[in-house]
Amino acid sequence: MGDMPETTPPTHQPLTAGGFDLHTHSTCSDGTDTPARIPHLVRAAGLSGFALTDHDTTAGWAEARRSAQEAEVLFLPGMEITTRFAGRSTHLLAYGFDPTDANLNGELEKVRGSRLDRAKEMVRRLSSDYDISWATVHSGDPSTTVGRPHIADSLVNAGYFASRDAAFATVLRTDSPYYVHTYAIDTARAIKLVRAAGGAAVLAHPAAARHTEMIDPASLKALVRAGLWGIELHHPENVADRMPELFAAAAAHGLWVTGSSDYHGSGKANRLGECRTATETWQALLSTVSCVV
Ligand code: AMP
Ligand code: FE
Ligand code: FE
Ligand code: ZN
Repeated sequence: MGDMPETTPPTHQPLTAGGFDLHTHSTCSDGTDTPARIPHLVRAAGLSGFALTDHDTTAGWAEARRSAQEAEVLFLPGMEITTRFAGRSTHLLAYGFDPTDANLNGELEKVRGSRLDRAKEMVRRLSSDYDISWATVHSGDPSTTVGRPHIADSLVNAGYFASRDAAFATVLRTDSPYYVHTYAIDTARAIKLVRAAGGAAVLAHPAAARHTEMIDPASLKALVRAGLWGIELHHPENVADRMPELFAAAAAHGLWVTGSSDYHGSGKANRLGECRTATETWQALLSTVSCVV
């Protein structure tokens, strides 16, 4: 096979040992582990390193970075941005950008503010049928993000549902009368903002069935033109039958392929490190971004 080193994993084969998990959530958004705990779990999972990618916030970076040093695992700061592409809710992973960038922060504040208003309105609607109140949902800390999982937790704590999953299957669905939309940044615009802040953008779980976020391979072109760096093709929620066309599209557009778990602690079934990113991809990502420490 030419001069390719034997250790280079082919991009279509999922990694099962070593490597990196580039998609994790902490208590700064809708995960259940603190940013300080995650690096220790990363080490225990046999991973070399990870990225913290809370929804629309960088609030956990400092704590995660400190704890990664203690746990002796590599750390890349990241975030999962709430965006909209072709009328669909689309999650965009952003890595290694300047967290003080004014343009990006302006949009993120808008997203977090809208999330707060929207969650309060959902709780108001739910409270006519369920005995929950805003005080049981969120602390109100504006640097962290609130989402439907927090509402699910208070419904679970009040005894109405057995799990987040059960609440999502009914009252929190997008077609539920209790559901309220939240502001999302246009995906191409978000990619440009991330790039301008020195970061790299990766399309998250492009074929995750339950998010109804399936991306049409042909329309990837617009995102590539905006500067998309990679695509998260190894993800526990990507449906298998969409993968051949997406791998072909990724190759045609020269996108890097990542694999990650989308770990949310006990909030979701996804196990840390169940999907992983190859070391060569991690290195390429680090060499692309400006903020790695
Ligand atoms: P929101 O961002 O407020 O619209 O809520 C969407 C978030 O809820 C996503 O980030 C998912 O991680 C999480 N989520 C979606 N479906 C489920 C589910 N069935 N169980 C637990 N968490 C879920
Ligand atoms: Fe989430
Ligand atoms: Fe997501
Ligand atoms: Zn996620």
